Amino acid sequence: MGLVVGVACLMIPRLWLLLASVYRICVEYTPIIYPSEDRLSPVSKRRLSLVGRKTLVLDMDETMITSWLKKSGKKPRNKPRVAHDFKFYLPAYEATIYVYKRPYLDHFLDRVSKWYDLTVFTAGAELYASPILDFLDRGRGILNSRLYRQDCIEMYGTRAKCVLLASPDLCNVLLLDNSSTECSFNAGNAILIKSYEIGSRDEALINLLPFLDALRFMKDVRSVLKHCTRFEFFSTILESVAQ
Ligand SMILES: [Mg+2]
Repeated sequence: MGLVVGVACLMIPRLWLLLASVYRICVEYTPIIYPSEDRLSPVSKRRLSLVGRKTLVLDMDETMITSWLKKSGKKPRNKPRVAHDFKFYLPAYEATIYVYKRPYLDHFLDRVSKWYDLTVFTAGAELYASPILDFLDRGRGILNSRLYRQDCIEMYGTRAKCVLLASPDLCNVLLLDNSSTECSFNAGNAILIKSYEIGSRDEALINLLPFLDALRFMKDVRSVLKHCTRFEFFSTILESVAQ
């Protein structure tokens, strides 16, 4: 009896602390609720009809997912401590690829696929990226437009993604990428997102939704995006050439 009372005295304060922290998280959590497309005001619908539907070019690695590779027959090093979302064996690499989705990715894709035509542009090899994109698409057909490593342009010894390959109309195309180099190649049409680290608490995708929601109403995305981020890649190159 004494033991039970002792354990109860020990656990009850901890239980209260746990309940208090859960309550605080619930109270502080404010979900973003978007109205469906049909509930746009007549003014918004009219505005949208006056501008072109836009293409959102999505990078894959460290933007939508981050992967970890385990070579066959080798002792794994630095294996992430969180559960993976998807894995597959890649014979060409003799390795198993573990895929970790960025938080809120499914909700993000659901939403932006209603606003934009989506194209994935990855510098990864097709045989590596294709199974991952099939998994992310989940049969919805929203990630069918894809550009891979072979579609990149060799520039200054690096692989550059040109958004013109996804859409020839620069007024209506934008790139979301974690690489400032890739963004600098498409300055004026790019949004830089921080790289996703496996297991981190990350809200970058969900935080971008209001901005992307607004951008689809623009006549020319460059009028906004050219002011967003100053990309240093070209100036660095020019400086190195000048020296
Ligand atoms: Mg990337």
